[in-house]
Amino acid sequence: MSELIIQNLQTIHRRIQAACKKANRDADEVKLLLATKTVDIERIKFALGQGENLVGENKAQELKQKGNTLQTLQANVHFIGHLQTNKIKEVIKWANCIESIDRFSLAEKLHNRLAFEQKTMDVFIQVNTSYEASKFGAAPEHTLELIQQVAQFNTMNIKGLMTIGLFSEAPEKVRKCFQLLKNLQQQAMNLNLPNVDLRELSMGMSGDLEIAIEEGATIVRVGTAIFGERVYPDSYYWDEGTQIV
Ligand SMILES: *Cc1c(COP(=O)(O)O)cnc(C)c1O
Repeated sequence: MSELIIQNLQTIHRRIQAACKKANRDADEVKLLLATKTVDIERIKFALGQGENLVGENKAQELKQKGNTLQTLQANVHFIGHLQTNKIKEVIKWANCIESIDRFSLAEKLHNRLAFEQKTMDVFIQVNTSYEASKFGAAPEHTLELIQQVAQFNTMNIKGLMTIGLFSEAPEKVRKCFQLLKNLQQQAMNLNLPNVDLRELSMGMSGDLEIAIEEGATIVRVGTAIFGERVYPDSYYWDEGTQIV
C-alpha cells in the first residue's frame, strides 16, 4: 500500500511537471493538494512523510477526527467541501483555509464567528463554473459581487478562486470551466479591491489537472490518483441531499 502511494505521488508530480512544461510555466507555480476525504489518517500521514504538506478535507465531522493529527504534523489544511453554517465552529478549529465560500450568508456567519474568536482565515471563493445543479459554488455572474462583499469582512483574506470542472469526456468543455475561473480572477483583480490578493486558482483533479494547469491552476486537488478509488460516490460529498444507505 505504501509503495503504491509513493509511486502514485511520483506519477502525479511528473504529470504536473509535464503540464507545466507544456504550458511554459515553472513547476513550482503549481501546488499539489492531497484530497483526503475517506482516506484514513495513517495513509495521510504516510503521504505527508513523502514531502507533501497541503491537505484538503470535505466534511467537518471527518476533519474533526483527523484535525489533531494533521495539526501535529503541521499540515496546511484546506477545507474544500460544502460548508454548512452549523459546522463553522468545528472547521475553523482545524482548517488554515476555507476554499468553499460560495454564498454571502455563509461568509457573514463565518465572519461573525471569526470576529468572536478574534481570528482571521484565508478563504477562496468557490464558483460553479459548470452550471451543474449538483455542484456547489457561486454562480459565475454573481461571483464578482460576492468577492466584493467578502472583501469587506476584515476577518477574511481572499486568496483566490476554486472550482470543480465539468465531468466530461470532452476536454474542451472541461477547459471552458477553467477558462471561466481564470477570466473571473482577471475581472476581480481589475477591481483593485484593497486587501484582496486573488493569486490562487484551485482547479484540476485526478482526471483533468493537465487542462487546469494549462489554464492557470496554482493548486491542483488530487485524491483518487494518489489514494485509489473511494467507496462513496462524490455526490455524497458534493450534495447534502445524497444519503448513503
Ligand atoms: C474529492 C475532491 C477532489 C479530488 O478528486 P479526485 O477525482 O479524487 O482527484 C478535488 N476537489 C474536491 C472539492 C473534492 O471533493
